Amino acid sequence: MRQSILFTKTKKESPADEVSRNAELLIRAGFIHKELAGVYSFLPLGLRVLKKIENIIREEMNKAGGQEVLLSSMQPKENWEKTGRWETLDILYKVSDGEGREVALGPTHEEIIVPILKNYLSSYKDLPKDNPLALYQIQNKFRMELRPKSGILRGREFIMKDMYSFHASKEDFEEFYEKMKAVYKNIFARVGIGHLTYLTFASGGTFSKYSHEFQTITSVGEDTIYVDEEKGVAVNKEVMNDEILSQLGLKKEKLVEHKSIEVGNIFDLKSKYSKPFDLFFTDEKEEKHNVLMGCYGIGLSRLLGTVVEVMSDDKGLIWPPAIAPFRAHLLSVGKDAGARKEAQHIYENLLKNNIEVLFDDREEVSAGEKFADSDLLGISYRAVVSARSIKEGGIEVKKRTEEKATIIPLEELIKLLKDKS
Ligand code: ATP
Ligand code: MG
Repeated sequence: MRQSILFTKTKKESPADEVSRNAELLIRAGFIHKELAGVYSFLPLGLRVLKKIENIIREEMNKAGGQEVLLSSMQPKENWEKTGRWETLDILYKVSDGEGREVALGPTHEEIIVPILKNYLSSYKDLPKDNPLALYQIQNKFRMELRPKSGILRGREFIMKDMYSFHASKEDFEEFYEKMKAVYKNIFARVGIGHLTYLTFASGGTFSKYSHEFQTITSVGEDTIYVDEEKGVAVNKEVMNDEILSQLGLKKEKLVEHKSIEVGNIFDLKSKYSKPFDLFFTDEKEEKHNVLMGCYGIGLSRLLGTVVEVMSDDKGLIWPPAIAPFRAHLLSVGKDAGARKEAQHIYENLLKNNIEVLFDDREEVSAGEKFADSDLLGISYRAVVSARSIKEGGIEVKKRTEEKATIIPLEELIKLLKDKS
């Protein structure tokens, strides 16, 4: 893509109404636009990152046997009354349907998915052991969060992947739940924050002993966790006590306290939602049982904001290669007509080789501004073409995280950028 036609522009000044680093940098770089407190739009560069995260998650969900659905955001009040949450869930947005009735704006989708399944699920044969039934969606959710000030870490409208699994027995559920732990680890590793993200024991509320959160360490996190480095697990401060530590086989003196952000969580729902909707199956003896459920969430927009919090530096964003908006940022620098032509030629060559490249072809922008913009946008590789680089044998390349550049010919650049390792 040519930067000269990209409609967003970078800003030197931080927005006055943002206190969080993620929103500040993403707005300055033109990745997102603020609409309301806790409500943001995604612009071309931000959307490209979001889509890359989405694709990683989708791939992993499909591999785990998940079937993708897209569920309604407007949800019937009766469903929420059935589970009792119309009255008790304080973050629920209730809006008018225009005909004197109220509907909920979906903060989560148990109240939709369970009634849907009632139409299709009735026998143990619908809950195969070797291929557990799991449905997932990736979509906007709405929650009336109080005074959101953490940018896209805590939105009133935000993007979540939610998966619900359905099982005939506790054993089936547990097997799938264990598998999902590994799937989640893999997702955070692929996104590029695996080294900072810990499987964390948290309280499971009233219907389960534990739930598991995936917490990413950063000083701006709302949560406090205690990490056992050796075992690679953590405990949320809210549940920490001697009894729990001994149950988990963790030793107090080995734990290190950190602030962290919850990027995902997995829950044992038991029959909490199947009961109110009477979602059941009959076994081989024609006996009725409630379906057992698990749920598995990841906040995509929060994950994106978390990456910004943990990866950026004083010059701007730094994207892990797997989710960077482009593979390379090609800069045409200087006024030399020959060099500009060569940069254009290189751009076309990269495109031909299916390399995603943002080409800073702007004619009226100084070299200094282009470098500053490139640092702010945070694309993994910067490739500069100037009269000097051509004289010295090609293109001046460096990673966003490196200080020193090297000059390499086009063929080598193509090889470097195609290599995804
Ligand atoms: P939190 O404890 O942060 O309030 P939660 O435990 O209510 O979140 P879930 O309802 O289980 O979260 O949602 C699944 C995931 O969605 C969370 O792990 C988090 O990554 C993300 N998430 C939840 N609330 C928000 C929000 N307001 N803005 C952005 N992401 C969110
Ligand atoms: Mg939570």
